[in-house]
Amino acid sequence: CTVTIPKGDEDLHSIISRWSDLGVKLPFAVVVPSTEEDIIAVINFASQNSLHVVPGGGGHGVFVPIGEKTIYLDMKNFNSVAVNKEESSVTIGGGAVTGEIIKACVAEGCYTLTGNSDALGVAGYFLGGGNSFITGLHGLAVDHVLSIRVASASGSVITLTPSSTGAEASLFSTLRGAGHGLTAILSLTLRTFPIAALSLPDSKIWNRKLILPGTAIAQAATLFTSLLPPPGPLLPVLIFGRAPPGTPAAGAPMLIISANYYGPSASAEAAAAPLLTPEASATAILATTTLVDFTAMNASSAAMSAHGGFKETYNAMLATISPASITSAFAQFVAFGAANPSAAARTYAVFGAWSTGAQLANAAIPNNKTYFAHRDRGVFFQFTPWYTDPATRGAADAAARGVVRTVRESDDASGLERVIFANNMIFGQEMGEVYTREGLEEVTAVKREWDPKGVFWSP
Ligand SMILES: Cc1cc2nc3c(=O)[nH]c(=O)nc-3n(C[C@H](O)[C@H](O)[C@H](O)COP(=O)(O)OP(=O)(O)OC[C@H]3O[C@@H](n4cnc5c(N)ncnc54)[C@H](O)[C@@H]3O)c2cc1C
Repeated sequence: CTVTIPKGDEDLHSIISRWSDLGVKLPFAVVVPSTEEDIIAVINFASQNSLHVVPGGGGHGVFVPIGEKTIYLDMKNFNSVAVNKEESSVTIGGGAVTGEIIKACVAEGCYTLTGNSDALGVAGYFLGGGNSFITGLHGLAVDHVLSIRVASASGSVITLTPSSTGAEASLFSTLRGAGHGLTAILSLTLRTFPIAALSLPDSKIWNRKLILPGTAIAQAATLFTSLLPPPGPLLPVLIFGRAPPGTPAAGAPMLIISANYYGPSASAEAAAAPLLTPEASATAILATTTLVDFTAMNASSAAMSAHGGFKETYNAMLATISPASITSAFAQFVAFGAANPSAAARTYAVFGAWSTGAQLANAAIPNNKTYFAHRDRGVFFQFTPWYTDPATRGAADAAARGVVRTVRESDDASGLERVIFANNMIFGQEMGEVYTREGLEEVTAVKREWDPKGVFWSP
């Protein structure tokens, strides 16, 4: 067990590495436990000394404050992955990251519900619901958990399963969607599915990608919305970004439409037909149709996973989105970059869409309570300002809130509640947008019961 206690004059990054530095200061200590006993010792020490424990996995959560009262429990040694083919399950250590899980599963001919960045901690991802490449077919990661092993704030180690009863049943449910800051996850077991059952071409994922100049925003918005609502196997995304250094139009606003299909090529071509027309390709800087290895499914998001700098994940879960709102959101994205040149290069926005059928069906299964509240929303939007000068925060916040307001126009007109995704809470998140009022009351009661002293920092 390694313990690092900063003296106070160190460079932050020599002590702790996080996806975003927002709200991150030197902690009281960083502990890298090797055993469950180490973790219990940390919990007991924090409890006795009015400190807060923050277990860290991939470090991708932007909503977690870290400071002089924090013991940062870096779970990186708890990175085991054990696939059980007979039981169609995978047991994942509390510090394991997505890329390792995908590799281990694919080696056994299966997959589980993993996020879109190889660097994501799987425990942290699971605790907020877990939205994966396969949400349209299977629902959420929290719908497919077989057991969770935790160290509680009182220092006990418990294994929770769908058969748990009483307070343990409530904790099991709460960890499924509203689980940040309740316990330390030692491991969790998720269901796996055979890759062969997807009937993929050559066991690979069909992908169609168009890269368009910013001037083609109206066309991009129409193309993206023409794919909605997608069938279960189709996962379309639309990204706002800027051409990277070294490319002919470096720094110019650009658009990427990418659609993965988790099924046979012929069905993929039918589902993504609007992206395959000559008109769609005509304005594209690049138009490709490729088959992607399962283990490389997250390669294109590697740049978005880099640690450091200041980032926030302003987001909205939507029922509908109109081409007009997308076009207006893009104009605001471009204007933010123009007014804040140091933030322009890396700031991005992304729309994703999936079929809600599987997640709604899962919610209807009796005795299957989770805290993923907004299963009827099939369009996700995120605006991520990414800057290096903290003075940019005000401008970033104003721009992001404006863009999110814009993409909500259709839902607002229908009188729908404004909601966001737990895994992408922003720093200082208003919790009423994440959970229902009733859910929030229940979660608060579970927190009081399991962690009355607030040993674990919780949103
Ligand atoms: C580039 C990027 C891509 C993303 N893609 C997706 C996606 O496809 N689907 C999706 O659902 N979400 C996605 N997210 C959101 C992500 O799932 C959440 O930010 C998640 O909380 C990150 O977990 P982490 O371990 O990487 O981060 P950390 O900051 O290390 O942890 C985040 C939270 O989880 C807690 N936590 C982590 N490990 C443990 C543990 N072992 N025990 C108890 N608590 C723990 C932390 O204490 C903290 O509260 C993405 C985020 C980014 C930045």
